[in-house]
Amino acid sequence: MIYLVEHFYSIQGEGKYVGTPSLFFRFGGCNMKCEGFSCSETAPDGTKIIGCDTVYAVNKEHFSQNWVSINKAEELMNILNLYELPNAVDIVLTGGEPLIYANDAIFVEFLQKLNARGHQITFETNGSLHVDFEKYPVYKECIFALSVKLANSNESLNKRVRGDVIYNIASNAKDAFFKFSIDKESITMALEDEIESIVMHSPQTKVYCMPVAGNKKELEENTEPLVEFCKAKGYNFSDRLHIRIWDANKGV
Ligand code: SF4
Repeated sequence: MIYLVEHFYSIQGEGKYVGTPSLFFRFGGCNMKCEGFSCSETAPDGTKIIGCDTVYAVNKEHFSQNWVSINKAEELMNILNLYELPNAVDIVLTGGEPLIYANDAIFVEFLQKLNARGHQITFETNGSLHVDFEKYPVYKECIFALSVKLANSNESLNKRVRGDVIYNIASNAKDAFFKFSIDKESITMALEDEIESIVMHSPQTKVYCMPVAGNKKELEENTEPLVEFCKAKGYNFSDRLHIRIWDANKGV
């Protein structure tokens, strides 16, 4: 079963394609929890849930009110008709982790329909789940933002860093780039080593580093130290434009 948590038309706020008008589909469910990010959100029943900045798209138990089950690819395609969109607008598939649905027939049909209509599709993924490019060639037409999780996520190393998956995606996709979330406390030699050990699985793939932030204040606190880190390492700094503009508001 595919779950959709929200959709919205905005601009891409992060990574290589920042500023691009994009229709976002946020899917529910993830193979990780990333409690190390320590973002908290109060569930409708009053429970305070700790996780990443999209914990409402990860924790079905407490946020299921917002999770809509999808039974046909047309249900997803019809969402495009709810907006006044430019022709073949970019589509961003995010979550949660959208690739938990990578082998789902309805999901693949959705991708094929978008691709046939000329939409550029970008996945925002944690880069830990296998994509079968041979069985589903439509994935070769997609862009992958590989937001591989670092130790600050508190996920185990063998779960969050899958060299074979990174190599497979970077080698077969239309385009791919690394996108790391970093807070100022975690900028250490250990972090440098960790990023290098991930990037070595696809050395030609560009690296973007963006501040860990659930709101504008956290974004501002983490920005300058991260800019200095990027300058020292030769990585690209990525802002989180939507947080800088809209703070902690969702669906923008
Ligand atoms: S992998 Fe991404 S969506 Fe999943 S819990 Fe971690 S930060 Fe959240």
